[in-house]
Amino acid sequence: MNKRRVIYEGKAKILYEGPEPGTLIQYFKDDTTAFDATKKAVLDGKGVLNNRISEFVMTHLTSVGIPNHFIRRLNMREQLVRKVEIIPLEVVVRNIAAGSLSKRLGIPEGQSLPRPLVEFYFKNDALHDPMVSEEHIAAFGWATAQEYDDIIALALRVNDFMSGLFAGAGIRLVDFKIEFGRWFENDHDMPRILLADEISPDSCRLWDAKTGEKMDKDRFRRDMGGVTEAYAEVARRLGIIRESGEETDNVIHFTGGSK
Ligand code: C5P
Repeated sequence: MNKRRVIYEGKAKILYEGPEPGTLIQYFKDDTTAFDATKKAVLDGKGVLNNRISEFVMTHLTSVGIPNHFIRRLNMREQLVRKVEIIPLEVVVRNIAAGSLSKRLGIPEGQSLPRPLVEFYFKNDALHDPMVSEEHIAAFGWATAQEYDDIIALALRVNDFMSGLFAGAGIRLVDFKIEFGRWFENDHDMPRILLADEISPDSCRLWDAKTGEKMDKDRFRRDMGGVTEAYAEVARRLGIIRESGEETDNVIHFTGGSK
């Protein structure tokens, strides 16, 4: 029986109280939702893959000095992370037009952007995560001016590093969403901004560099099928799981599908 205290339960993850003060356990569920949770499914093995992919990316980000909450993976579905005070913003970085940018501004999906774009959305399900500007962030005190600058600088560094990481695996990083938190290392110190949450095909758009095939959650959003298979292919190409996919129950071949 699981007696651990649940700190927070989201759509795809659960946060439990950690074994030491200042830590949490992040549990990756197989549940998948889209369009404000109006579309739901359970995708067997997705949580296992996202745990591994997020571990891989966060570990590499640590190695290039990008501070993040990841401490270590505990098992197939759980990782130990630092407890942070989440800043209520979803930070989206885009390299190629897709999704809501294409819809809102009429920029054709697939068009390269002149430079990476950083956008902010207010984390609020009831309001459907509306887009906000620096003015809103400052006026409502969601982040200080210094935190805002740190977040933009970190988001762009994450983008640079991840674009290269995925390019090396034959994958284009189209866009992604990240979240940040305040880490109070010592009670008397100023908090540090850390990258938090997860980085996985649930939160990134990833296209096969050669074919343009989608390898991310858009496969679920658009009913394309092969969602877990595509996530497994991302993990394979990054060298996280072997060809046989022995580390997940249901890893099969990624055969792609219509674009
Ligand atoms: O929908 P939109 O084009 O704004 O999404 C941009 C990126 O942010 C996509 O990679 C999407 O998967 C991610 N995202 C997310 N969680 C949200 C909204 C967007 O992971 N709530």
